[in-house]
Amino acid sequence: MRVTADHGVCVGAGMCALTAPGVFDQDDDGIVTVLTSDIEESHRDAVREAGILCPSGAIRVVE
Ligand code: SF4
Repeated sequence: MRVTADHGVCVGAGMCALTAPGVFDQDDDGIVTVLTSDIEESHRDAVREAGILCPSGAIRVVE
């Protein structure tokens, strides 16, 4: 699994960082930062959920 996030689309809602804190963080402006794009097995369910919950569609998950 790989994950990317579009900074230009992110609205800083923070759902990703709350849902998968080991994978997503936010910068000082609230914009998403992907901490690792190569997702470990233990984080995969949370990453899928973050992709669903993101209100702007900024997160792209590739299985
Ligand atoms: S949930 Fe979506 S809109 Fe919110 S910070 Fe994460 S990527 Fe950005």
